[in-house]
Amino acid sequence: MRLITRPLTACAVGLLLLGGGPAPAPAPIPALPPELRGFTARSAAAEREWEGKFRALPSPDSLRAYMRHLSARPHHVGSPYDRANAEWILAKFRSFGLDAHIESFDVLFPTPLERVVELVEPRRFEARLAEPPVAGDPTSGQRAEQLPTYNAYSIDGDVTAPLVYVNYGVPADYERLERLGVSVKGAIVIARYFGSWRGIKPKVAAEHGAIGCLIYSDPKDDGYTQGDVYPRGPWRPREGVQRGSVMDMPLYPGDPLTPGVGATKDAKRLPIKDAPTITKIPVLPISYGDAEPLLAALAGPVAPAPWRGGLAITYHIGPGPAKVHLRVKSDWSLRPLYDVIARIPGTVAPDEWVIRGNHHDAWVNGAWDPISGQAALLEEARVYGQLLTQGWRPRRTILYAAWDGEEPALLGSTEWVEAHADELARHAVAYLNSDSNGRGYLFMAGSHSLERFINEVARDIEDPETGLTVWKRAQLHAIAAADSAADSTAVRRDVRERGDLRIDALGSGSDYSPFLQHAGIASLNLGYEGESGGGIYHSVYDDFAWFSTFGDTAFVYERALAQTIGTAVMRLADAELPPYEFTGLAEAVGRYAQEVKKLLQDAQDGARERNREIDEGVFSATADPRRRVLPPPRQAVPPALDFAPLDSALAALTGAAERYERALAQAAAAGGAALARPQVGALNATLLESERALTSAGGLPRRPWYRHAIYAPGFYTGYGVKTLPGVREAIEQGNWPEATEQVGVVAQALRAEAAVLTRAAAQLAQLAP
Ligand SMILES: [Zn+2]
Repeated sequence: MRLITRPLTACAVGLLLLGGGPAPAPAPIPALPPELRGFTARSAAAEREWEGKFRALPSPDSLRAYMRHLSARPHHVGSPYDRANAEWILAKFRSFGLDAHIESFDVLFPTPLERVVELVEPRRFEARLAEPPVAGDPTSGQRAEQLPTYNAYSIDGDVTAPLVYVNYGVPADYERLERLGVSVKGAIVIARYFGSWRGIKPKVAAEHGAIGCLIYSDPKDDGYTQGDVYPRGPWRPREGVQRGSVMDMPLYPGDPLTPGVGATKDAKRLPIKDAPTITKIPVLPISYGDAEPLLAALAGPVAPAPWRGGLAITYHIGPGPAKVHLRVKSDWSLRPLYDVIARIPGTVAPDEWVIRGNHHDAWVNGAWDPISGQAALLEEARVYGQLLTQGWRPRRTILYAAWDGEEPALLGSTEWVEAHADELARHAVAYLNSDSNGRGYLFMAGSHSLERFINEVARDIEDPETGLTVWKRAQLHAIAAADSAADSTAVRRDVRERGDLRIDALGSGSDYSPFLQHAGIASLNLGYEGESGGGIYHSVYDDFAWFSTFGDTAFVYERALAQTIGTAVMRLADAELPPYEFTGLAEAVGRYAQEVKKLLQDAQDGARERNREIDEGVFSATADPRRRVLPPPRQAVPPALDFAPLDSALAALTGAAERYERALAQAAAAGGAALARPQVGALNATLLESERALTSAGGLPRRPWYRHAIYAPGFYTGYGVKTLPGVREAIEQGNWPEATEQVGVVAQALRAEAAVLTRAAAQLAQLAP
């Protein structure tokens, strides 16, 4: 379900000169020899050979054939073709020679029974709420099997009320409305897509007293303002609608009725009325064709300039005189999920698992989302099957997972992680995810302990359209993209000189979330994008006809994705030591610590300045006296916070990361023979604790499902990541006692991590022959 709305790698630079902590500069760590990280010199040579064989085998033709088959009919959760696809994937895994099975869960998945949106005043208009078939696109007309346009997990409701336009519907938009003297209490709001994950819009609307919510796709964001619309071009046509979940996933994803445990047949379930992640008000998504008459009927203040979209109307805010009737009613049945799991047993360390996943369910036909990623996963599995017949045997166990139910709420992955929590805590080395894939640049995000590793992999993959390595192309793209950064010179210097491209931190939006943020498993999310944009996300037009005309038409970035992740999985599975690297992690956490300090400083400066301007009369003097614009309210200036526990824990982490790196460099300099000794198993066991150590048992305040102290989706951004989330969100929400408490929680996690790394460094030193 991932939808990218921002530039690629290495763009979030800006604080690199601020330094991490008070530690004095230690002696430089000797550079590792050019062999593969975590391998002995000897096994590295064998690994290079197998990886080369692997990368020669993925075929655009078979990738195209998988996509054609899996996207041939609508395949949402509970549909006949969803089950048929699961069985087809199972048969494929088995035909590749892999041991595979289907694991099933029963989850709450509402589907629509009644949907009404109509303008009742000042004139009547009934919204169409349907996407018409397109000539030349054979699957767009499969009406009988398509899910209607709706937002899953909207509560049932039947409301009639004045309409208010709220822009993206994020908290800052409501502050603006307040200053304009507009209340949404008792109103139905209409918000546009983008600017936040969609589930945030009804959540914030309900918090402000709205009784209903419409979400529409404005042509400025992914329609004709961007380019030609489908079928002439790839962008969203007039009647195109973005389906999607509005469940409160920042609270917890997965089945709403079984938080924290697998939704097995006999699991204890909450009553539906007590499920906290279902919306508080009814919600429906609409096209810009349906939205235009509603927006055109609004009066009241003209919308501020940044709020105006691409329709040929003057955007007003309301409330009214437009009055809207909204009715939503769903079938709230439990439905079966079919996760397909394949296994390649490890020879030396079968109890260490490398896990690779991509979802197979879609909102409709879903050629791009998710089959472009699922096809790559299948092709990787096919190639592994071939290498197994040639004698390759992974050291660790590899699990391949085709998840069901990602679109509604990461259902298949979350329930599986919850059902296998104890085993995963003991066995999981890493989780590698993909979802939608396109043409362009390699996008790398995930745990910073894997930053060095994935940079090394990217240097070994060839970009199919330029012949550069995908790493080089991503680096050059990051240099070009730096033009738009405020500190572009510093960003470009960082991209050119650092060695590794910085990977983004993960929020939510795909199946890595339960692995990383609930189970504490080092994770990566990978894909190509940037040259094949469009506006068919979660519509009937995301299908084979669209993808093969406007997506990766030659299926060569499909091949590149299979080569990238196939290489990464193989390398993680074969290395004597998991190729984690922790000085980059310490550096990233240091940058996040600087960011939260600056956030507090900016909040203090901003409150002082705003109060001063209120006293000076700036707001009343500069607002048009004939229009109603209120000054913002006075703010209490945030107090100073004590970050010393964070700084000292960070210094401890930095020191431990450097000790580990030095020990590894010494082992590698000696040909890595130490890594071949049998005691390396104990060291592996220690390293497996490293991502787990960054979690806290109690989780985040008010959302204990999220346990990672460094990464979480934002409570008010949805997909967007909040790093050091406990501290950052407490500052954003002005909760100072909680901010102080959360500084302690993060410091404790960093100290636990430092202890793991110190232990690992000592074990590594003892291995030296
Ligand atoms: Zn997806």
